[in-house]
Amino acid sequence: MTTPLLAFNTNGIYCEAADVYLDPWKPVNKAIITHGHADHSRWGHKEYITHHTNIPIIKHRLEAINVTGKHYNETFTINNVKFSLYPAGHIIGSSQIRVEHRGEVWVFTGDYKIEDDGISGAFEPVKCHTFITECTFGLPAFKWIPQEEVFKNINSWWSENREDKKTSVLFGYSLGKAQRLLKYLDPSIGKIYTHGAIENMTQVLRSVADLPDTIRITKDTTKEELKGNIVLAPPSSHGSTWIRRMVPYVTASASGWMTFRGARRRSAIDKGFVLSDHCDWQGLLDAIEATGAEKIISTHGYTEIFSRYLREQGYDARTEKTQYEGEQADTEQAKENLVSE
Ligand SMILES: [Zn+2]
Repeated sequence: MTTPLLAFNTNGIYCEAADVYLDPWKPVNKAIITHGHADHSRWGHKEYITHHTNIPIIKHRLEAINVTGKHYNETFTINNVKFSLYPAGHIIGSSQIRVEHRGEVWVFTGDYKIEDDGISGAFEPVKCHTFITECTFGLPAFKWIPQEEVFKNINSWWSENREDKKTSVLFGYSLGKAQRLLKYLDPSIGKIYTHGAIENMTQVLRSVADLPDTIRITKDTTKEELKGNIVLAPPSSHGSTWIRRMVPYVTASASGWMTFRGARRRSAIDKGFVLSDHCDWQGLLDAIEATGAEKIISTHGYTEIFSRYLREQGYDARTEKTQYEGEQADTEQAKENLVSE
């Protein structure tokens, strides 16, 4: 049996022909990184290769690393294996990785979404023989509504809270979701305040994305200043002492998980907006079809159910165990970034 072009081992997704890993979860010599979320870009690799835009993002967390930047569609060769990055549409600086060797093409998505959010680059389908896909929201129950509608609802919610003289606290993870929300908040309604973790990441991204002005919340920020305005905060700040100074406030979360009403109730959030940086069920199926791939490997999410469905549709589909966590990990990252001020 010949060695597959990409194999899953205890360190990550391995290309033996090039001796390089894609988004490895253990420290390795050479790693090609899809995006900046903590479950995809980890500590301890000797050499990192990623999209230029992702460099300041991963350096913000990993600091002094040896990293080389690539452009989208730029081919680079390692031991006769051709690699190139394509937009994944997930967050700013996110890529899919295309790998070509001896006429065989594989694509690894990392995390992705097909709706163009205006700041992450539009997802580009790439023809391949084998497609390695996430399926965080790989159930038919997940069906996103167009983002224009979601942002309209978020801004109306903020306006109503302002009329009630309450502070609106909107939760979204600090890298990706927070900037996507910020991009579409309407500054004519009021001022936009940020939690320190979100402000720090937003500052990093201002050089590559056009975003409205924000004000960092400090220990000197008063309730009166916040009243009627909106606060962007990581989900982990919910229930913390940090948030209590905002009384009276109302909370909302923007996440794909808000599809399940129980999820909102369990986390004691007043309002849920269904908004995700991952594909919904139909998005996954459309993306897969567009690649023309016959072999599909699911890495994280509802992998078993999703793969079974694909096999029923005639695909050669299987799952592989990885340490990627999808939107949950993004919440974990927010927890990691949480600073108590
Ligand atoms: Zn991610």
